Amino acid sequence: MTTAAATTAVIGCPNCGTRQELSPLAFGDTLYCVTCSTPLERRYGQSLVAALCCASATLLLLVPANVEIFLRTEALGVSRHSYLSSTAGAILEGGWPWLALAIFLFVVVFPIVRFALLTLVLGHIYLGRRSPWLGRAFRWANRLETWAMIDVFLLALAVTYVRIQDVISVHLGNGAIFLICAGVLSLLTRAVLDKAEVWEAIAPDNAPADPLDAVACLECDLLVEATEVDTPCPRCAAILRHRQVESIPITFALTVAALLLYIPANLYPIATLPIHYRPTSYTVLGGVIDLADANFYGLALLVFVASFVIPVLKLIGLGWCALSVLMRSRRQLVAKTQVYRIVEEIGRWSMVDPFVIGCLAPVLNYNALIHGGAGPAALPFTTVVILTIFSAKTFDPRLMWDAPRSRP
Ligand SMILES: [Zn+2]
Ligand SMILES: [Zn+2]
Repeated sequence: MTTAAATTAVIGCPNCGTRQELSPLAFGDTLYCVTCSTPLERRYGQSLVAALCCASATLLLLVPANVEIFLRTEALGVSRHSYLSSTAGAILEGGWPWLALAIFLFVVVFPIVRFALLTLVLGHIYLGRRSPWLGRAFRWANRLETWAMIDVFLLALAVTYVRIQDVISVHLGNGAIFLICAGVLSLLTRAVLDKAEVWEAIAPDNAPADPLDAVACLECDLLVEATEVDTPCPRCAAILRHRQVESIPITFALTVAALLLYIPANLYPIATLPIHYRPTSYTVLGGVIDLADANFYGLALLVFVASFVIPVLKLIGLGWCALSVLMRSRRQLVAKTQVYRIVEEIGRWSMVDPFVIGCLAPVLNYNALIHGGAGPAALPFTTVVILTIFSAKTFDPRLMWDAPRSRP
């Protein structure tokens, strides 16, 4: 393991830009930003070895999850089955290429790439090897954390199971069981992975001569001398910037586009299901009411929050934060920063409704009465979710704190 730098390391808060000294933490302690209360470092049982075990086990489980039978249905004396790896192909044949691409990337490719990169990086650090590509690989593993959506897909699987079990006989295949195990381990990986420790092991945090003037890497929080701006970060190879380029115009453009698409996304049916042996189209909110009518109140609440509350919260929250920068507002900056953190964290869960279509479409193609698939709202809804995730990524919350400081 790399030893700590002789001088006290300093990091820049990713949400407000405040420079803060890193002090050793006792078990159970959290170091909060003194300005915006963002947790900067935590010590609560994370372990590099545990993270390596969880990440490599997740990677191993993703192989059978993709090649074993995922779901099996039976109706009219006939059976259908699906594989996770071929779900995108079945959806593509159904005429929904954008949904097929989203499922292929978010559920098949990105989880495998993320856990392969994590296994490689953590394995190298564990073995004491310091390859020059480690920082770049760990940066990409972190970037894919939002986009690797096994956990969201598992919620969609639960919703699908509940929604079609009273119409046809449905069984989880081994692939689904392996994916559930991989999902649990992926959450454990997240809990036991101490990113700051990994970055410190790849290259120690700096103590620049003038921390206030130094530039903080947007990806690994390393503080580097201001003269290095616009060059690759020495630790993770991301281009160093004082702030994200064109953050506000891009955030506004993406948020407004998402807001406009949000109307058809909720007005039109998102999917069709055979309910009481009749193909029935339902809207996002209609699906929630159906689940509540069937007495699945917990699941109805989860889907209501994921599909309706979160997109609204994201649009209002991002609009509030971006307007704050434009208005050079000094008010409620801590609250706005916390709203931004929540929006960035939970946005991906809105993919649950598009994923339900991914789960049911390949195993619900019996005849004109027993069939299921995407509705006209599926494309705008999926686009809203993806646009708001990008919007949260392009927004630089430090601009909210800069704006009042630069007020004339
Ligand atoms: Zn802060
Ligand atoms: Zn960096």
